[in-house]
Formats: sequence, C-alpha cells, structure tokens
Amino acid sequence: MKLAPIHYVRPRSEAELLDALARYGADAAVLSGGQSLMPELALRTRAVKVVVDINHLPDAGGIALGLAADDPLQTASLGVHAEASAPRPGGWLHIGPLVRHGDLLNHHLVQRHAPGWAAAAAHIGNVAVRNRGTVCGSLAYADPGGELPLIAVASGARVCLRASSGVREVAAESFFAGAFCTVRRPDEYIACVRVPVAGPDSFHFVDEIARRPTAPALASIALSVDPIIGQAPSVRIAVGGVSDRPRLLPATGERISHALRGMTARQRGEEGVGVALDVDAIRATLRAELTPLVERDDAAYRLHLAATLTRAVAKLRASLDLSPAMPHPGPLT
Ligand SMILES: Cc1cc2nc3c(=O)[nH]c(=O)nc-3n(C[C@H](O)[C@H](O)[C@H](O)COP(=O)(O)OP(=O)(O)OC[C@H]3O[C@@H](n4cnc5c(N)ncnc54)[C@H](O)[C@@H]3O)c2cc1C
Repeated sequence: MKLAPIHYVRPRSEAELLDALARYGADAAVLSGGQSLMPELALRTRAVKVVVDINHLPDAGGIALGLAADDPLQTASLGVHAEASAPRPGGWLHIGPLVRHGDLLNHHLVQRHAPGWAAAAAHIGNVAVRNRGTVCGSLAYADPGGELPLIAVASGARVCLRASSGVREVAAESFFAGAFCTVRRPDEYIACVRVPVAGPDSFHFVDEIARRPTAPALASIALSVDPIIGQAPSVRIAVGGVSDRPRLLPATGERISHALRGMTARQRGEEGVGVALDVDAIRATLRAELTPLVERDDAAYRLHLAATLTRAVAKLRASLDLSPAMPHPGPLT
C-alpha cells in the first residue's frame, strides 16, 4: 500500500526539531531509521499527520566517552529534571540519536566499554536493517522482543529525553511502560542513551531464541556482571520477549552474585565468605521470578531461559578462571 498523505518536516538543528515536536505533539512521529515506522505507515497500522525526519541533525551520529561531570545533559542550558544517577568512576558511553545498530558491532569504544551492546546488536535483523535502524529508534519503538531494550535494562543504561521545555533522564528499566509503549512524551525525543562503562573484568552474555535469525526474540536473556573490589559483584540479569517489556531479575542476580563471591573467596582460601554455587537455589529463584512475568501459557519459554542461563553461568565461571574442581552449575531446567 502507499502511504497516506503526510506533512514532512526535516529539521536542520535540534532547536528546529524541538519546535516541531512541541508544535505537532501526538500528531507527529520522529523518523530515524524508518525500519519500523515506514512499514507501519505504509500498511496503515499507524496514522500520523507529520513525520519529523531527524536524519539531517548535525553531530547526532556519535559514540563518545563521557564522565558524569562533563555530561552535556548535566550542563545543558535547558532545565535538567534528571533522576539522581549514581556517580560512575568509569564514566558513561554516550550513544547519539543517529547511531545505527551496525555501528555497535565494530566501534572500538563499544567493544571495549559496552561489549554487551555489540553482542545484542549482532542478533538484530539483517545487514540492511542494521545499517539503517538506530539504537534510539529501537528503544523508542519498545518491541518486547527487541535486543537493544533488553541490553539497555541489563546494562543499567539511562535514556536522555529532550523537549523544548527541558531535559530529563530515565533509567532503562523505568523507560519501558508496556509493549511498544514508553514513558516518552510526544514533545520529547531520545537525544542519547548513556551506558555505564563496563569494568575491565566485567562479563557480558546475550542469547535468545527467535523464529528466524532476522526476527526479534521470542525469549531472550542478557547477563551483565561487574566485579567490585571487596564486594559481591554486581550481577544484572534481564529477560525479554516473555513479558510486555524487558524485565530485570534482581533476586536471581543477587543469588548469583553471592555465589560468585563465595566461589572466588574459597579459591583464595578464605572461609565463611558467601555461599557455594547452589544450582538448586539459583534455579528456584529464577523460576520464582519468571513465573509471574511470563504472559504466555507456555512453559517452553521458562525452560529455554533457564537453560540459557545455565550456559551463561558456565561461561561466567570459565571467564573467572575458577578452579576446574569447582562444581559445574549443571542444568537448571
Ligand atoms: C526485516 C526487519 C527485521 C528486524 N529485526 C529486528 C530484530 O531482530 N530485533 C530488533 O530489535 N528489531 C528488529 N527490527 C526493527 C529494527 O531494529 C528497527 O530499526 C527498530 O525497531 C526501530 O529503529 P528505527 O531507527 O528504524 O526507528 P523508526 O522506524 O524510524 O521509528 C520507530 C519508532 O520510534 C520513534 N523514534 C525513532 N527514533 C526516535 C527518537 N530518537 N526519539 C523518539 N522517538 C523516536 C518513531 O517515531 C517510531 O514511533 C527489524 C526490522 C525489520 C524491517
């Protein structure tokens, strides 16, 4: 089908973009990669009066390292209404609104500081989709099976929203409000995503099951582990595709974190620190957390996720170079 008649706006600056969004509000849609918006408009499953094409915004395609102190969001002349964000000794990786999925695959800063994002992008669609689709567009689209919403939640990323009235920043786990639904207001656009810089000994894992390699996931899991000296490692686990939005599994993360601390402490000969890698306890916690989240009446989703997590824990164990004498986590299903 052909598109319905649409008013097309091509802002040349962020000020023009914000003016257009303030003026047209819910009648307008931001066009970035167009990989989801254009089929929707062509099939007329979505109707908008105005398309605001941001592809000609200057300096919008960059990936850069920034410390919290030099974050442009914090120093913007617009009013800042950001939630308090924890200081990051390692800083943040800023991903601009025109960074494409494919940029994540090969960019040296992503490979070094946010390897989970490169791993997630590798699962997206085909080369054409990865060349056009944008990171921010994928977050705005909020497909429950989307890989980038998943890794955004697992990595503790923050979404920066700008409107002519001000700027705000939302943690990824609070940004997604349902299937294809976010807390973004119609007069806001996603100006960037900020990803916490991963530590040198961090571990990242993304896996999924999909109908086709080019389709969003039916069920997916992302695991992000950041060792913290003298403390139990930070373990964030997110699942996608099983619910209306990507979900964190904090209790399972906590359980694995304590187990890892116990394993590494025992290797150093310390006694009484942490707990053993109790596979039964991890499995029970995982099932208890997944059960209320899984919306489809299909136990295969739970089983797949549990099996995938088993592989993730085994890889994690190998990456930490734990003693082969340590008990293997074994199947979790
Ligand atoms: C064949 C095919 C296979 C695909 N496979 C996958 C897959 O495996 N995994 C996956 O996750 N996705 C997949 N996709 C979707 C693809 O990743 C899209 O690119 C992505 O979902 C949307 O990004 P986009 O830049 O194309 O956004 P667009 O299509 O331009 O926009 C999508 C929505 O987001 C809004 N929007 C876009 N950018 C912004 C912004 N900066 N601020 C505010 N709102 C914005 C738009 O108004 C629109 O509502 C596939 C698409 C196709 C066509």
